[in-house]
Amino acid sequence: MIAELVRSILEGDPRAVAQAISTVENEPAEAQTLLSALHAKVGRAARIGITGPPGVGKSTLINEMAVREQARGRRVGVIAVDPTSPFTGGALLGDRVRMHKATDEGAAFIRSMASRGMAGGIARATADAADVLDAAGKDVVIIETIGVGQSEIEVSRLTDCTLVVLSPESGDSIQAMKSGIMEVADLIVINKKDRPGADRLMHDLRSAFELGLRKRNVEMIQTSAYNGTGVPEVLEAVDRYLEHARTSGSFRERRRRILGHRLRSACEFMMRQSLWDRAGAPRMLDHATEAVFNGSRPLYEAARDLLKELSS
Ligand code: GDP
Repeated sequence: MIAELVRSILEGDPRAVAQAISTVENEPAEAQTLLSALHAKVGRAARIGITGPPGVGKSTLINEMAVREQARGRRVGVIAVDPTSPFTGGALLGDRVRMHKATDEGAAFIRSMASRGMAGGIARATADAADVLDAAGKDVVIIETIGVGQSEIEVSRLTDCTLVVLSPESGDSIQAMKSGIMEVADLIVINKKDRPGADRLMHDLRSAFELGLRKRNVEMIQTSAYNGTGVPEVLEAVDRYLEHARTSGSFRERRRRILGHRLRSACEFMMRQSLWDRAGAPRMLDHATEAVFNGSRPLYEAARDLLKELSS
């Protein structure tokens, strides 16, 4: 059963890939076996993060990038981490609505993942889903996040190269600098260059860099994603960035750091899982709760004792 699925994934079958990503998303324990079976085939794809405030044109840009990458003979997979609707629990935006061009033209495999309630966290699930796409033979895996909130920033740290997309409408540059997303930028794309204010934004960002609001300087590219202007330049800049990172050794170093980070969260995840699997765990919890409830034990002392008991 699993061998069958693994074979289909390695052949790049989109249905098998979709099924595997659902497993990663919803059944992390089963996903562990699957990912172990794919392990030997993971590591070839370039992982590109695309982040930025809502409405700046990230999806439009990804569409255009995917179509051009395909024209260069590269296979693209996209994972879009969507904010979760508090009402339905599902992803708010829906992949096919937003990136229909790339899917219609067969340029990319696109998958949305809802950001809330994902067992083990978004970072784990997106990194695992990227492994699936990598094993399925994608040359490029794009991970899109909305650059607000700590967990999204964490996701964009799991890639080989992160693009921060801004637009003249996305608010002032100092704000962007302060929000934390600029910290993860390896390249900055200023989209909607057709709108007033693109040059101004670029200028302000440069001044902010010079003022030392960020440690290192970063290449900036202006685009009009909706008509493709500047998109080839973005792809070239990504290639250049990766090439340079490979020759300088920082690519390997970054991948190693990412693996360390993933390993750490995998341990925490497994520990959490196994903790309550222990026979008698509910009874132990109940006893400890009673002791705290009737005032005979302080909460943290009870927790410490309980932990000892659970792991003995
Ligand atoms: P996202 O929320 O960052 O993914 O943004 P979208 O890609 O959904 O784009 C938001 C809106 O901006 C859509 O209406 C796009 O058509 C529009 N848009 C995208 N790129 C450009 C551009 O280069 N110029 C202009 N004027 N509009 C754009």
